[in-house]
Order: sequence, then structure tokens, then C-alpha cells
Amino acid sequence: MFSRIDHIGVAVEEIEPALELYRDSFQLTVAHREVVREQGVEAVLLDVGESHVELLAPLGPDTPVGRFLAKQGPGLHHVAYQVSDIEATLQTLKDAGLALIDQQPRTGIRGSRVAFMHPRATVGVLTEIVEPAAGTGGH
Ligand code: ZN
Repeated sequence: MFSRIDHIGVAVEEIEPALELYRDSFQLTVAHREVVREQGVEAVLLDVGESHVELLAPLGPDTPVGRFLAKQGPGLHHVAYQVSDIEATLQTLKDAGLALIDQQPRTGIRGSRVAFMHPRATVGVLTEIVEPAAGTGGH
């Protein structure tokens, strides 16, 4: 069902200082940068082989990442698995009785479609599934 880890999401207060670490010190290549209003974040994807690190900075305090930062501070936010058919995967997860945050896919970075499972269903790890847009992530 999950073909690989698509990315690891890291919550940060500001994108630029995080880029000094991930781009400059770790020498990762920035693959994409985008404001995703639907999720209330500015996001940067950096390539790590065929996977990515996704830096997430909130557009305001009253957003999911803004509330995460207020509660827990910066750090590991979620793990995202790549799937080829997000509707079928969501149905399988629903049938298994797992608690979902998103009953339907929503728009993610780079035109992908994404959905989150509730951390209480996934041993405390906020877990995302991603169906990449054609031509962007089907490594
Ligand atoms: Zn993500």
C-alpha cells in the first residue's frame, strides 16, 4: 500500500534559518517552494535521494502548524508515505477502522493530493499519505 517514504515534515518558526541548516549546512537541493493556503503553511521541499524533507512554517498562529509550534515548539511534525491511489488507500484505512483527519484528499504541495491520519491511530506519529501529481514524484 505504501511504496516509500515520500517526505518527513519538520515544523519551523521561519523558513530562512531552517534553510541555512538544510540547504547550506546539509547541502540538500531545494526542489520546490510554495505557499499552501489550504494548509496555512509556507513549505519547502528539499531532495534527499528520492525522498524529501518538507520544511513547514505557519502563515499564522491559528493554523495547524502554528498551533503545533505553540504547543510543542519546532521539530519533527509528520511522516508521509507515497501511495499510487489515494482514494483506494483512504478506503482501505477507513475499512480498517483507523481514525482519519481527512476523510477526503486535499491539495498538498506541488499539486499532490494528501490526507492525514489521526496520531491517536498511528502510535503518536502524525501520518500523511501522498499521491504525487503526475510527473513530480513517481520516482
Ligand atoms: Zn507533508
